[in-house]
Amino acid sequence: MAITKVWIEEGCIVCNACEAECPEVFHVTDTSCNVNGAVREDGVDSENRDEQSPLSGSNGTDLEAAIEAASASCPVEVIKFDKA
Ligand code: SF4
Repeated sequence: MAITKVWIEEGCIVCNACEAECPEVFHVTDTSCNVNGAVREDGVDSENRDEQSPLSGSNGTDLEAAIEAASASCPVEVIKFDKA
């Protein structure tokens, strides 16, 4: 199993918990949280809610545990991911 894509639903409260758990994937901004373009196939820094871009290369395997920890740490449960 690997995580195929990650996105942020509406409602982020910019608490920084996800970035503390997994800074490779999550970057908290003034208003929300981005999934870093550096780990995405489309290279875009955004919430990835509209783009639904897959993770690139081996990131979904290498960062699986950290992404799951970040998702579990989100107090409003807006970090979503797919696995395959
Ligand atoms: S943990 Fe959740 S609420 Fe906090 S910054 Fe990340 S996405 Fe936003």
